[in-house]
Amino acid sequence: MKLPFAESYKIKMVESIKKSTYEERQKWIKEANYNLFNLKSSQVFIDLLTDSGTGAMSDKQWSEMMIGDESYAGASSYYKMKDAIKNILGFDYFLPTHQGRAAENVLFSATVNEDDVVPGNTHFDTTKGHIEFRKATAIDCTIDEAFDTSVFHPFKGNIDLSKLENVLKQYPKEKIPFIILTITCNSSGGQPVSMKNIKDVSKLAKKYDVKIIFDSARFAENAYFIKIREEEYKDKSIKEIVKEMFLYSDGMTMSSKKDAIVNMGGFIALRDEDIFKKAAVFNILYEGFITYGGMSGRDMSALAQGLDEGTEFDTLEARINQVYYLGNKLKKYNIPVQEPFGGHAIFIDAKKFLPNINKEEFPAQTLAVELYIEAGIRGVEIGAIMADRDPITRENRYPELELVRLAIPRRTYTKNHMDYIAVAIKNVFDRKDPINKGVKIVDEAPILRHFTVKLERI
Ligand SMILES: *Cc1c(COP(=O)(O)O)cnc(C)c1O
Repeated sequence: MKLPFAESYKIKMVESIKKSTYEERQKWIKEANYNLFNLKSSQVFIDLLTDSGTGAMSDKQWSEMMIGDESYAGASSYYKMKDAIKNILGFDYFLPTHQGRAAENVLFSATVNEDDVVPGNTHFDTTKGHIEFRKATAIDCTIDEAFDTSVFHPFKGNIDLSKLENVLKQYPKEKIPFIILTITCNSSGGQPVSMKNIKDVSKLAKKYDVKIIFDSARFAENAYFIKIREEEYKDKSIKEIVKEMFLYSDGMTMSSKKDAIVNMGGFIALRDEDIFKKAAVFNILYEGFITYGGMSGRDMSALAQGLDEGTEFDTLEARINQVYYLGNKLKKYNIPVQEPFGGHAIFIDAKKFLPNINKEEFPAQTLAVELYIEAGIRGVEIGAIMADRDPITRENRYPELELVRLAIPRRTYTKNHMDYIAVAIKNVFDRKDPINKGVKIVDEAPILRHFTVKLERI
């Protein structure tokens, strides 16, 4: 018999999580204004809100925490991080930041101006927020296949080259600080970008003399998908693929809370010394001196170790297999899920799951609330609430996809947890009384409203 897949790690420390009753959860979610961000973590049994900073560090990362160097300037931890970034990603210049959006804030402060345009594949919410906050425009050039959850395409994060070229033709290059390529593309469902597409985008960028920045939170997962889906890369190691991917970029922003498997941290890495120097000024202003930028020494040391572990095939295989195990279970239960499954999460198509709820009543948020009440599982809406209002008309924006994301933290939950999640979703799906009332907004922030929005059931 073929041996089944098993993780190449064992567990050395455990943390208790609390179960609750259906009645308790009904009360708690009401008190939280039907916003899952407002729940206490003690009110959640399985937390799939995000895979950001929620992973389990390894024994080696924890030992790096103990030997971290907390010197203000020139700490050895900084140099460990610098070496890891040079050796694994290939960049000479880097700035530590406290997380990914801080990297965006610093880099965009140095490069993005009013009326600029930043084309890319579906920009992540904080990325878009930082662009729009500077009165610039994010232009989505993702391939159309990305927006149909039932179509199979191996690289749904890809850029549509003709959409991109139209933007590059339409605007003078001075108005385009860079193209941003998100690998994997979080907002379109953790979907990868192929090496071929990366190369083609790079060719176009060269032709129009525009830079490319990779939004790289899940770059290692992207490399894994290239290895298993792009024939000519099947015999290459993840580290070789990673090196090659970044050859086509001028720089990157990183949320290390994802593929560097730390609880907090981020960085900017760059090839160009001039941009580095400009960004360094903002780093000192917003984050801290350039050799720590908002991170403790111990966190930089753990990050360096995490970058190495996160780009090992075994780490990625265990992670992505777990996500796919859950996805395949849901499919067996006929739950409408986005395919192919993302690297870090399973996305439920809420419009198909709750066909009776119209878009003005936020089907994905409604479903996330129901799933919490059913089983204490916390997912997150990736839909109209997250999309914010149009910055000019102030009308609600209704993206094509209304999704509930179930993000799986790295090395944290077991196969039994995946089985529990799948059955909980099936139970909501099979309910005798169909869910036909959604939610409405009673209070919201002007930007990034999904974090603090207050809702009522209709
Ligand atoms: C998480 C994420 C960010 C923002 O990083 P934070 O560490 O949460 O600030 C930016 N882009 C992508 C693609 C991400 O997944």
